[in-house]
Amino acid sequence: MLKYIGSIFQCTSFQHKGKKNLVKSEDDFLQKIMTNNKKVIKTKTRNNPKFYKDLAKGQHPRVLFIGCSDSRVPVSITGLDAGEIFVHRNIANVISKNDLNSGSVIQYAVEHLKVEYIIVCGHTNCGGVAASLEHEDLGFMGGWINNIKNTYNQHKHELIKLPENEMKTALSELNTVQSVYNIVSNPAVTNAWSNGQKLTVVGWMYEIEHGKLRELDCTFSKLEDLKKINNGVSSHL
Ligand SMILES: [Zn+2]
Repeated sequence: MLKYIGSIFQCTSFQHKGKKNLVKSEDDFLQKIMTNNKKVIKTKTRNNPKFYKDLAKGQHPRVLFIGCSDSRVPVSITGLDAGEIFVHRNIANVISKNDLNSGSVIQYAVEHLKVEYIIVCGHTNCGGVAASLEHEDLGFMGGWINNIKNTYNQHKHELIKLPENEMKTALSELNTVQSVYNIVSNPAVTNAWSNGQKLTVVGWMYEIEHGKLRELDCTFSKLEDLKKINNGVSSHL
């Protein structure tokens, strides 16, 4: 065990002391990313030489953005910069009540960062949502995708009436709304509202084919709004 820890430490900057060119020069793609990074630094510091020094002092983002890991849905769609947006992404933007990962992110964002907004952003053409409609064995990933299958089963009688593409979009929307429901019942969120903290939770969709964000009818900004869940929030269906 001690030997293993020792070998890990050799990977740290404390041991290799800033040795240059650890990325092999023939690995063009990784070299390209390193070069891109230098260009980004130049651009960011051109008008504000203190940009990174200021960032290092701390973060005060006003929003937690929860999206899909899909490469076509980067947080740059929001136009917000480093330091302005706290982010959590996973396959198909699923927030389940027993997930330690997203639960910790939400708790930290609400209790410590005091974000004013939580945006759950689903998207069209979501591979995770499509996978939930297939019957093949998805292995490890299957446990995660089951969250979406459960949402599908709850609304199956309405979903099966729709053409395939519309059904997938509707299921993405329902999955997003379900994630919003699970967030607004999180104790970190309900406690914040009880204490008078300003916090709004919304569900949005990103249309990949148009590059456009649009709102779903599920906005929560106070404890009384939770009544909407029992009364039934209107969504795509
Ligand atoms: Zn997706």
